[in-house]
Amino acid sequence: MKQLALLLIMIGLITASCNQEQKKTEPQQEFKFLLEQFADLKIMRYQVPGFDELTLQQKELVYYLSQAALAGRDILFDQNYKYNLAIRRTLENIAENYKGNRESDEFKKFMVYTKRVWFSNGIHHHYSKDKFFPEITPAYFESLMRETTGGSFPLREGQDLESFIAEIVPVIFDPNIAPKAVSQEAGKDLLLNSACNFYEGVTEQEAELFYKNLKDQAVKAGADTLVSFGLNSKLVKRNGVVAEEVYKLGGLYSQAIEQVVYWLKKAAGVAENSHQKAVIEALVKYYETGDLSIWDEYNVLWVQDLDSHIDFVNGFIENYGDPMGLKATWESVVNFKDIKATQRAETISANAQWFEDHSPVDTRFKKPEVKGVSAKVITAAQLGGDCYPSTPIGINLPNADWIRKEHGSKSVTIENITYAYDQAAIGNGMIEEFAASPEEIELAKNFGSLASNLHTDLHECLGHGSGQLLPGTRGDELKNYGSPLEEARADLFALYYIADPKMMELGLYDNEGVYKAEYNSYIRNGMLTQLTRIEPGKTIEQAHMRCRQLIAAWSYDLGKDKNVIEKFERDGKTYVKVNDYEALRELFGKMLSEIQRIKSEGDYTAGRDLIEKYAVQVDQKLHSEILARFSKLNLAPYGGFINPVFVPVTQNGKIVDVKVEYPDDYTGQMMDYSKNHSFLPAFN
Ligand code: ZN
Repeated sequence: MKQLALLLIMIGLITASCNQEQKKTEPQQEFKFLLEQFADLKIMRYQVPGFDELTLQQKELVYYLSQAALAGRDILFDQNYKYNLAIRRTLENIAENYKGNRESDEFKKFMVYTKRVWFSNGIHHHYSKDKFFPEITPAYFESLMRETTGGSFPLREGQDLESFIAEIVPVIFDPNIAPKAVSQEAGKDLLLNSACNFYEGVTEQEAELFYKNLKDQAVKAGADTLVSFGLNSKLVKRNGVVAEEVYKLGGLYSQAIEQVVYWLKKAAGVAENSHQKAVIEALVKYYETGDLSIWDEYNVLWVQDLDSHIDFVNGFIENYGDPMGLKATWESVVNFKDIKATQRAETISANAQWFEDHSPVDTRFKKPEVKGVSAKVITAAQLGGDCYPSTPIGINLPNADWIRKEHGSKSVTIENITYAYDQAAIGNGMIEEFAASPEEIELAKNFGSLASNLHTDLHECLGHGSGQLLPGTRGDELKNYGSPLEEARADLFALYYIADPKMMELGLYDNEGVYKAEYNSYIRNGMLTQLTRIEPGKTIEQAHMRCRQLIAAWSYDLGKDKNVIEKFERDGKTYVKVNDYEALRELFGKMLSEIQRIKSEGDYTAGRDLIEKYAVQVDQKLHSEILARFSKLNLAPYGGFINPVFVPVTQNGKIVDVKVEYPDDYTGQMMDYSKNHSFLPAFN
């Protein structure tokens, strides 16, 4: 899940394309996707297209699941570090009740720190896991605490303000206290050096032994599958005894779990079908007992639920926050199927054989029988816990290996989130800086989104699965050049077909601007903008980046005598422009045919020569120009989303409709969550 999220951070920087079919005629100027930027972060928001078309029962279901998604927020703060809730409430009390000068630079810096703590669900950076610091002095911070009146600070029992200040201020400012949430430093005890709150007074060795014993016992008792030991608990040592404190009703985090369960039960009451009801009830039973075998039962039921329109993730899922990779942070995503986009992927898949038969590669290298892979596309309706505000763009769950093997997994992409990323990027100046002409910008704004989604569908559903090896070719001949060449094969398949009349025939788009937008952005990215991710003086290593430069530079070279792609300077800046789209498509076909030959025959020398000639080296002068232009744009490398709000409309105590609202104030949403969706004490 997380890997997809990180990938998107990078995509967000290098592309300015957008998506979703119904949007192409209405570029959505009025809806503000990018809300604000601070430190290295940007805050965006997303829309929930299709919500109004849900039935009342489905809307109610989304509403209840969304409430359940918000109810566990405090859990994540406490899991990340034991002081996080106390610090968050301290900051919020000041933010709300401080009546001194709120316009000063100092106070603004205090607010930036507060927003960063909200964003990271604690005082450690959400990505690097390093502690970050306010850009104000401890003395100023203490004065804010002393001068804030009217609200209350999260004092411990019997504690006065001064002793609370003495306790909390060093935790925020001292770089030696809790420097890392998750330490991976070799040679040091991972648990004692990590600030995350999954272990208390336990060494790495003790924790290893504890879980080894649990596994041994289970194996001895004849278990044929093992539960995910340690997933939903904190491991503590009390009076010399190592024991688990389990996250469950009546256990650790009970007050928040109670609320999650309350809303899940409501959701079960309006489930779409009996299978989905059983899924939700199994999850409730798991929260009530903390029993990990019930968690597995729930996951098996969940992965089998393919018919429901609404779907959700809710629980202790990913283990990136634990240096030992055992314990999971709490998260939730509520979503429903994007029928139109899913159909698009299914249409492409269903015609896989036609595409294979008509591809420009030698008949010997074609598959006589080809099967497309279909992917489900979803619309996120609410994000919670570790999925908020920094969000994955794809989900592939469950994580338990034995369930994946025996029952499969659900793999989805979240298109309204990628759409929002793209839309937010349109205003960031990236395309304006690097596009060759106003027409190019216009094409990108109108069709870029759909174009990049179609490209992804063609690449994933068909490209990788097309073609066959000649008898005698094993498939590993291309060695280290294999993966950029494989990506190039899939990309070229997509680039060749996105311009095919078959696209219109299948109803996948109705304007040639779509493929032109894709050609522009692909060439621009491959020749210019992806260089923003390369450090000065370095060459290109990453397979996808090598693939893109290979395709862009090679087609530039092949079409040079006919000026198919033009490279020119204006006001000292370099631009690239596609002059002849049809000729470019022919070149893509030619290149596809050659790369397929290289793969089918296992021609290492030809593959190596292509990559080394086009895909690795960076023009130093052009690179520094691109980096300078990019840095002037001041783009934040990390992004997150605020949630829509679902508001039930009631008549005589009954819900008769649910409305979706799109707030645009990050601070407002955070204060609302802390007031209305916060259930844990400051210290747990
Ligand atoms: Zn690929």
